Amino acid sequence: MEGEYVLSRYLIASDVVSPDHHPDPSRLLFASRTGKSLLIKEKTYQRLLAGEFAKMDEATLRQLREDEVLVPPTRDEFRDMLEKNQQAISEVGTLSLTLQPTANCQLGCVYCGQQHVKKNLDDDTSARIVARIMDTLRRKPYAKLAINWYGGEPILALKQIEDISGRLIKQCGQAGVHFFASMVSNGLSLKPDVYLRLQRHRVNSFQITLDGIGQAHDLMRPVKAGGGSFDIILQNLVDVTGMPEFSANRSGVTIRININRHNQGKVADLIDLLAERGLAARNVGLDFRPVVDWGGNQADRDSLPAADFAALEIGWTQHAIRRGFEFDRILPARTIAPCMVVMPDAEVYDAYGNIYPCYEFPYTPKYDAPKYKIGHIRSIDQVRNDKAVTREWYADIQTGMSPCPRCPLFPVCGGGCAKLWYNGETGCPSFKLNLPERLVLDYWMRKRQRASEPAPAIA
Ligand code: SF4
Ligand code: SF4
Repeated sequence: MEGEYVLSRYLIASDVVSPDHHPDPSRLLFASRTGKSLLIKEKTYQRLLAGEFAKMDEATLRQLREDEVLVPPTRDEFRDMLEKNQQAISEVGTLSLTLQPTANCQLGCVYCGQQHVKKNLDDDTSARIVARIMDTLRRKPYAKLAINWYGGEPILALKQIEDISGRLIKQCGQAGVHFFASMVSNGLSLKPDVYLRLQRHRVNSFQITLDGIGQAHDLMRPVKAGGGSFDIILQNLVDVTGMPEFSANRSGVTIRININRHNQGKVADLIDLLAERGLAARNVGLDFRPVVDWGGNQADRDSLPAADFAALEIGWTQHAIRRGFEFDRILPARTIAPCMVVMPDAEVYDAYGNIYPCYEFPYTPKYDAPKYKIGHIRSIDQVRNDKAVTREWYADIQTGMSPCPRCPLFPVCGGGCAKLWYNGETGCPSFKLNLPERLVLDYWMRKRQRASEPAPAIA
């Protein structure tokens, strides 16, 4: 056995815990190669670290191999995982694209790096985008097409969304490709009638941002024309998620909360208010995010130190769970990609016809330079830049640009936000700094859900 298996480097252990049903000193162990967590006796953990596998019983060893805590010996486990990712990416069955149909937005968020202009996709550019998408679907065996509508504020180009979606739905239907869509919206115009129009065009999943309650939000996300946006957005959320169609269509909303020093004290109040308005029971999730730099605008200057954010995030998550919100996962899942930038056919189209690898590039002056663009919809068949910044992340990640090759979380992270690493910043997700606490929280949640059924324990 010792010769056949070695301890994976992709492990994170919690501090010692002694849960009721398993009173011996134990640890929660996270195997990032599989995204699994195990309760493991301290004695077994120490044997693992010492490589004393022969002292363990066969059932324990089997479980450890299954969860990839123990793995076949290899020269370079990081390279193995990277190769697995690249292989899986080449077999992905969903073509995921982002369309930013307008450069306009009603809000002037303090951290936004975009330059807003009243410019929507024109008919010729829309037709070329549809043709390009269908051409990709003809060339590769994709079974699904996923469109994410982003902005500016995409609802300001509702007509274009309906027009492009209508054509894609029809042509995908003829080609036997399943079409579905999501939207990142500021929520200001998401009235029930707009929801119904979007839903008819297969938009069922929304991300809407609220950065605190009342004034705390309004200071972060004011309306350009003057005044706050919080009350309108909250009422829209309550109205839309309360529609019978919303639940019948299994629509969902993720409320993103961008947090810095100014609004961090208001996050719990926001959770309370959302719960009081009934949103926790309506397929509404929460996503806590730090405010980051956007195109060199130094929006992160008032952000919390990453470790402080990570610690507070655990408290906000616990608070939200107590108030009835559900989280699909507390622990990160195995992923083959950090985001769209490493997916070869994933593209972002803006209202001018530019094609980018990353959805934070459009409308942002810093990223207007050719090196950030894959090309333009009018000339992409002749001029194509496959080396657009971020596009080669899975090659550059091996060159020491980031600590990812040495990080025990690479299998569940995939290399974080490439855009931030290329900008010389840190692209790690918050779980890098609170994984042991997440392990305990996840264990507590699972125990709550299955009160009579203890989590798998290892001798
Ligand atoms: S981005 Fe951070 S957490 Fe993710 S693999 Fe790289 S170093 Fe690890
Ligand atoms: S590189 Fe960063 S900002 Fe761009 S799509 Fe990926 S995660 Fe988002």
